Parts: sequence; structure tokens; C-alpha cells
Amino acid sequence: MQVIKTNAAIIGCGPAGLACALSLTQMGYKGPIHLLDSGRPFARRQCPVDNQEACHGCQGVCNVLAGFGGSVHYGDSIKLSKFPSGRRLYELLGTEHAEALTDAALNLLQPRNDPKAIDFRHSREEGAVPFPLKCYPVATLCSKWVKRAIEDLHARVAETKTIQLQLLTQWRQIERRAGGGFEMLVTDSLRSDQQRVLHADRLIIAAGRLGSRWWRKQVRQLGLEYIPATASAGVRFECPASLLAGAHQLHPDFKISVWRQGIKLKTFCFCAGPGGGRVKFTDYADFTLLDGHVIVEGEPRLANFGLLTQLRDESGEPRPYEWIEQELLSAYRSLRADRPGKPVLQWYPDFCGRRLTCTTLEQFERLTGSKPSVSDYSVANLATLFPPKAHDALCEVFEELLDFFRGLVHYPQSLDQTLSQVGVVGLEIENMWDQLQVSPAMETSCAGLYACGDSAGVSQGILQAAISGIAAAEDLAIRA
Ligand SMILES: Cc1cc2nc3c(=O)[nH]c(=O)nc-3n(C[C@H](O)[C@H](O)[C@H](O)COP(=O)(O)OP(=O)(O)OC[C@H]3O[C@@H](n4cnc5c(N)ncnc54)[C@H](O)[C@@H]3O)c2cc1C
Repeated sequence: MQVIKTNAAIIGCGPAGLACALSLTQMGYKGPIHLLDSGRPFARRQCPVDNQEACHGCQGVCNVLAGFGGSVHYGDSIKLSKFPSGRRLYELLGTEHAEALTDAALNLLQPRNDPKAIDFRHSREEGAVPFPLKCYPVATLCSKWVKRAIEDLHARVAETKTIQLQLLTQWRQIERRAGGGFEMLVTDSLRSDQQRVLHADRLIIAAGRLGSRWWRKQVRQLGLEYIPATASAGVRFECPASLLAGAHQLHPDFKISVWRQGIKLKTFCFCAGPGGGRVKFTDYADFTLLDGHVIVEGEPRLANFGLLTQLRDESGEPRPYEWIEQELLSAYRSLRADRPGKPVLQWYPDFCGRRLTCTTLEQFERLTGSKPSVSDYSVANLATLFPPKAHDALCEVFEELLDFFRGLVHYPQSLDQTLSQVGVVGLEIENMWDQLQVSPAMETSCAGLYACGDSAGVSQGILQAAISGIAAAEDLAIRA
């Protein structure tokens, strides 16, 4: 079998991996650096669901989650959130270093031919609304900006001789080598029989969402120190865009956490930009979850946001990942006989009543007066995935929020009429990452092995991923 030797290898071409590779070379690291990703080149990452077609999983390498750019999907708008969003990472780095790395990450993400500084909006004071709104500066960047940024990051990687970019390349197994460093089994993403071995002195894991299950197993096999994840599961509510416009004005990322009936709930990924928001499918081969994206350009029609409940058992202990696989995901798969594990839709009055009176997409469109932003759903009783207490808490918080949002924009319909315009889609699961014990340079409890971005489990978000990638690069450059 072919054996390749390298100084540093980075798994994942998302913001964390790219920031690490480019910063390392800027800092004079002599390389070579192997930068690998299981996904496709950025321009070949079309998602069929965005074109109103069915999700076919892209041969197990989801184009929304994988490829050059990582979970920053070429062609979508993004939001960048500054600290204190990502509080754990902020505390790990310390104020001064965190601020310096934020500037470095923004500089790195900014396309070279676009001198205009990224415009961050500061939200209202905390407590200015009847919910505990999290406040941090947010910038919303349109799809044209994102395209330019990814094209420019790609050009910079291509110009750097020491970075060896390999796409459609998957890392399957990592082991420590007796004399130091790491040995990895690498295959082509679409052909697992094409194997080779890679020896790296230093290894940086920036494998994001797509790599979360694979990395979870590796963390245990390598004996790394970690705190298990406390995952959350929930649904996404899709409503007329005009209804959520006022909340978007208050804070583009309207993020709250509240307790109801002894359960912690949080809003997630608020997608109500000037053009509304769209639902995104994220595929993990044997099941598909949901996320959202803000839309900056275009006529707003629909907007959406996620509402999630923390997954804990009756004694308050976090549900282990095995429970999610065996209980939650198997129940989710059973909701759809035609394509098990694909997302489902339910009319809000039915979701609330845990029943199914609206049974087809045509009926849903007639009842709500609108077509969902994506069409690859079957109608099913999504509500049954949640225990009664969690379900009631989801409905209670959603209705409180919706009533508040109606008031902000003087929405002409009554609350009941408004609720009947809402579609509930699922399933959404967040926070599946173990919180690794990492140093401020993102080094794990195994010397020479770094975890950046989502894989570290200390923060989520594009800017935070890039910041952690640069923190690792600084350390690697000093030690070289
Ligand atoms: C639909 C969607 C919308 C989002 N919108 C926003 C937003 O607007 N603002 C925001 O701040 N955050 C957003 N996020 C979250 C944000 O994208 C992530 O937090 C961020 O991209 C994490 O960066 P990362 O580099 O750690 O991982 P990723 O960006 O996920 O990149 C990881 C890369 O690793 C590769 N990989 C995984 N496993 C392997 C393997 N075994 N071998 C080789 N390669 C592998 C994957 O193919 C992928 O390209 C969104 C996420 C999604 C899914």
C-alpha cells in the first residue's frame, strides 16, 4: 500500500481547516501540509433539494456539508457572529487573544478584491425584550460575498505550493505511531477500496458536522479526554416572512434559551433576512436532518427558525449518543415508509394536537396558503417523536414567541389564524459533539493532535471555527 509522509495533515476544508492551513503558511511554516476533504470542489456542490428536487444523499458525501468550504455552502448567504457567541471558546482563549484572533479570522475570510470592511450590527441591550435574548454583534453576508470569499480562499490555497489539497478523500482510521506522530488510513470518498496510508507528525481534525460520528468513535479509540455531549433535538417552524421580520430587526440571530416544564429549550439558526430564509437538508447517509439559511437577496416569502429541547432522561442526565441512534433516529426513520430517515412536514395545529388531519402536501398548501420553501417532504406525525412534556414545552414556547413576533409587526391576523399558517419540519439535532479537553492552542489531551472548529465541541459557527484554526496554526508554527 502507498505510504505518504507529511509534517502536518488537516482533515476538513471548512473554515477551521482552511484558516489553519493558510495561517500556517503565512506564519512561515515550511510544510508540506496535506489538506484533505471528503467532499467535492466548491463549484460542484449543488444541492438538489435547493432546486426543489429530492435529496439523494450525493453518494454519501452531502454537498451541503462537505467539500471545499465545509458547511459554508457555496451559493448561500451566511451570518458571522462575534464573541460572546461561542462563550466557551472565548473563555478558553482569554479576552485579549480572542479579540486578536477575531481580527485575524475576519481578515482571512475577507476576499482580497473586496476592501469593504464587514459590517457588524450590534443588537439591542440584553433584557430589552420579554425573553432572555443573547446579544452579540452579527454580520449578514449575501451569497455573492460568500462566493467571492470561497473562490478567493481556493485561489490562495492553489497559490501556496506547500499546501497539498486533496478533495474527495476520506480519512477512515487514525492511530498513534510508536515513535510519535500518527498513521491514517485514507481512501477515495466514493471508492473505499482505493486505500493509502498517511504518516503525519501533527494532525489537525476539523471535520465538522459530516465528520461528527466518525470523530466521536476516534475520540474514544484514541482515549482522548472529553465531556460527553448534551445534544438537543427539535423542529423548525416555517412561517410567512413578514411575521418574523420584526424579530430579525431586534437581532438577526434572535437567540434565546428558556426553561419550561423542567426542560431547557433554545431557538436555533433564526433565518429571517431581508429575503426571508430557506430550509436546508443536511444528509448523514442513513438519515437526513434539517438546518436553515438566511436569504439576503430576493423577495421574502417564507422565513424559519429552529426550536430545540435538550435531550435529558428523567433524572436529568444527558441522553447518550446510543439513545439518539437507537430511540430517536429509529422513531424518526419509521415516520416515512417511502424513504425512511428523510425529513417530514406537519401542519402546526396538527403538531400541537399530536394528530394528523392534514395528510398531503396539497392540503397543507391550501390550509396555510403557501408552499414550503423546499418540497422533498412527506406529511407525518412529527410530534410523536417528542415525549409529551417536551412536546408541550415546544408548543408553549413557540406560541409565546409567535405572539410576541406578531405584536412587533402589527400582524393583521389573530394568533389562531397565524398559527394555522405555520408548517413544522423535522428532525433537527444539534450539539452532537463531545466537549474535548483542549488547550488554548486547541491541542487535545494527545500531544500533536489538535481539534478545531465544530470538532473541538467548544463552540459552533463560521467565525469561531476560523478563529480556532488560527489558534492551532500559531502553536504549530512556533513548535516547527
Ligand atoms: C446549513 C447550515 C447553515 C449554517 N449557517 C451558519 C451561519 O450562517 N453562520 C454560522 O456562523 N454558522 C453557520 N452554520 C454552522 C457553521 O457552518 C459551522 O459551525 C462551521 O462551518 C464549522 O466549521 P468547521 O470547519 O469546523 O467544519 P465544517 O465547515 O463542517 O467542515 C468540515 C469538513 O470536514 C470534512 N470531513 C468530515 N469528515 C471527514 C473525513 N473523515 N475525511 C475527510 N474530510 C472530512 C467535511 O467534508 C467538511 O467539508 C451553518 C451550518 C449549516 C449546516
